[in-house]
Amino acid sequence: MQKAVFLDRDGVINVDKAYVSKIEDFEFYEGVFEALRHFQSLGYLLIIVTNQSGIGRGYYSEEDFQKLTEWMKETLLHVKINIDAVYHCPHAPEANCACRKPKSGMFEEAIRAFDIDVKASWMIGDKPSDMEAAQGVGIDNTILLSQTCEGGVKYCVNLILDTINLIQH
Ligand SMILES: [Mg+2]
Ligand SMILES: [Zn+2]
Repeated sequence: MQKAVFLDRDGVINVDKAYVSKIEDFEFYEGVFEALRHFQSLGYLLIIVTNQSGIGRGYYSEEDFQKLTEWMKETLLHVKINIDAVYHCPHAPEANCACRKPKSGMFEEAIRAFDIDVKASWMIGDKPSDMEAAQGVGIDNTILLSQTCEGGVKYCVNLILDTINLIQH
């Protein structure tokens, strides 16, 4: 079995500017490269799980999302970071799908595809719905990037760089 760090995208990898769909609006957070490289060096898979309801709402297309994703992965490869997979939910909330966080569909898919040991894995997100989705599949190592620590989360930190201190082996 493999271990993984699951990451939300908007608000974790890049600044959440609401419905980011263009390269020029995609701003990597400071410290994100260092953090991802650290997890990778410890042998974690890097898996992004992201709600992209902007597709279902018609704000941008599936193709726009895939283009941005390719660019993001390429940019990270240039700094020696390999993203193992990106799962996205394209649905609007009213579609009531099984993949939109706080539901766990994207995690279930990744766990099957990569044979992931949930107890050895982590979730980093910026919303309680990220935490809930991870907990739904038994990931107890949850880190919320937030000034205010809400209930049911294992750790809360202000900066992505702080997660390096929490994920040590
Ligand atoms: Mg987010
Ligand atoms: Zn969905």
